[in-house]
Amino acid sequence: MPGDGIGPEVIACAAEVLRRVRPDVECTEAPVGGAALGAGLPALPVETRALCDRSDAILFGSVGLPQYDGLPLAQRPEYALFLLRRDYELYANLRPVRVFPGLEEASSLRPEIVRGLDLIVVRELTGGIYYGQPKEQRTVDGVDEAVDTMIYRAPEIERIARIAFDLARERRKHLTSVDKQNILETSRLWRRVVSTMSAEYPDVRLEHLLVDNAAMQLVARPGDFDVIVTENMFGDILSDEAAILTGSLGTLPSASIGAGGSPGRQFGLYEPIGGTAPDLAGKDVANPTAAILSAAMLLRHSLADDASAARIERAVDRAYADGLRTAEVARSGGAAVSTRAFTQGVLARL
Ligand code: NAD
Repeated sequence: MPGDGIGPEVIACAAEVLRRVRPDVECTEAPVGGAALGAGLPALPVETRALCDRSDAILFGSVGLPQYDGLPLAQRPEYALFLLRRDYELYANLRPVRVFPGLEEASSLRPEIVRGLDLIVVRELTGGIYYGQPKEQRTVDGVDEAVDTMIYRAPEIERIARIAFDLARERRKHLTSVDKQNILETSRLWRRVVSTMSAEYPDVRLEHLLVDNAAMQLVARPGDFDVIVTENMFGDILSDEAAILTGSLGTLPSASIGAGGSPGRQFGLYEPIGGTAPDLAGKDVANPTAAILSAAMLLRHSLADDASAARIERAVDRAYADGLRTAEVARSGGAAVSTRAFTQGVLARL
């Protein structure tokens, strides 16, 4: 689902890489977001939705265009994403953050602090304070007040923690669980559930951090993190903080894993973390890395094909190591390649 702005350009690149490594995977394209609204359809057309029902995974560009800003959510392109997240119960948001060799200068931190950075934030996406009830503004005794409710049930914590423990086991075996257990009851439950589960993962080193400390450590010693797991609101903030460590939105993929599917083959939606970048659309200058790496995540998590995912990731690494740069990460005055040329560079290095 290419969507709007730079979406069609970068998703075409990602689909080409995906087809090259797995020609047997059936890819079908469908309109979503502004592309659907512009054709007189809803943001998530019935046929697009039916296609999702029949699919193992969604590769998603991004949605949103300036002309729809200001309209109610149900009339905006972003409504499609809201419906997909809700209806497919996409409860686990995975955001790998890596600094590619040679791109350290793009970060706002000193190069020696971000060199080799390779972490992943696992954010709970369907619970916590964003969804708990009651959630309202009201007037009591003539005074305006507002309430949000933070609530977690143990099974919600268990399923997100399991994803994080399993990921840590496949990586450097270090899991950091972030909470605010000195203040919040939900955090006390969170810490108890995660600690209990660690008995099933004796090979994974579990560390607990309070969220305020985690925010500081992420910029002080980001290289020490491997997998970070946390609840919805903390994850919202920390995952953006982690993303900016790389200096470019265009390199960062994401996965939102759903409740359907089977272990090792979860249904999921895979997308660049950036938006539609209307300033770059149609110019063949956007960085396709985030979309290409989203396709790699799709192979790993929804098609249980770690080998093909790793093959794509290595090719992207080599492209950067060999000096290929799109405009937003090229050093000032340095040569920049187009979206298509970067993709050709990745294809050549598969
Ligand atoms: P944006 O992520 O589109 O752009 C922010 C900055 O990052 C811009 O300077 C842009 O040029 C740059 N950038 C983003 N992706 C890039 C890439 N692949 N290569 C090079 N540079 C890149 O955020 P915005 O400008 O705040 O939002 C634009 C539109 O995107 C809005 O309508 C917004 O609602 C939508 N949006 C959609 C999603 C989504 O679909 N998941 C996420 C965020 C924003």
